[in-house]
Amino acid sequence: MNRLAQLVIGGCLATAGVWAQAPAAFDSSKAYEHLRQQVAIGPRPSGSGANAKTRQYITTTLAGFGIKTVEQGFDGLTPIGPIKMVNLVATIPGERPDRIVIASHFDTKLFREFRFVGASDGASSTAALLELGRVIKARPKRPFTVELLFLDGEEAVGEWQGTDNTYGSRHYVQAATRAGTLKSLRALILLDMIGDRQLTIRRETNSTPWLTDIIWNTAKRLGHGAAFLDEQTPIEDDHVPFLKAGVAAVDLIDLDYAAWHTAQDTLDNVAARSLQIVGDVVVAALPEIEQRLLKN
Ligand SMILES: [Zn+2]
Repeated sequence: MNRLAQLVIGGCLATAGVWAQAPAAFDSSKAYEHLRQQVAIGPRPSGSGANAKTRQYITTTLAGFGIKTVEQGFDGLTPIGPIKMVNLVATIPGERPDRIVIASHFDTKLFREFRFVGASDGASSTAALLELGRVIKARPKRPFTVELLFLDGEEAVGEWQGTDNTYGSRHYVQAATRAGTLKSLRALILLDMIGDRQLTIRRETNSTPWLTDIIWNTAKRLGHGAAFLDEQTPIEDDHVPFLKAGVAAVDLIDLDYAAWHTAQDTLDNVAARSLQIVGDVVVAALPEIEQRLLKN
């Protein structure tokens, strides 16, 4: 992601009939473990063995929840030549094929001068997305299909400019447009860098207003107004290719992260509590987004 301003362009299960269990809730200790496992793999840039290992971790974890994952491989045409990249698409079927996509990038930015493990930038949102998969799968079938989209190649190989960024999201949108499946994509929630101990997420100005309103109203209702600020900021991220293709999209990102793109983006600077806040907000906002889509 990049600050545009800095750019030239810028189960309710009845247990044996004894009692009804509460629906599955987002558990940040589980999410934090997914974060820790990714950081333990080390730097995970596109095309690396560690990136493949991360995909294996995602696929295996989702399989454990009974969620099937499909690989979408492609060549990212980067300034240093083509790099093999792979998006992962995991589907939780709902009552209708129309889908809401929740997305995160899992690649980490390539830095040769220091070891970059991306505890917040890459691992945090991917960890939350895995835990969201567990929660949504364990709950009763939703009106809409939910797709968990794990994107490769969000990071620029060099400086963030031109087409050296968002390789995975641009490929996904192109492929869905060609296949005619973009029409059934009704809303995109993008998570990125949500691990910061002092979580501050600003309203991203490129994002779709009605979708942003639902998320921010939900956050306030849950008492998370200190993390979801009303201030606005434009950020270029994986939601942009979707917006350009006419898909409603919102980017939940904390770019006020002192360790952003530094060797300090480690476990020391992220907190499970921040994953909990975002997880709870997304789980609570989903039915509201569905209500809104059903009305239109
Ligand atoms: Zn980054």
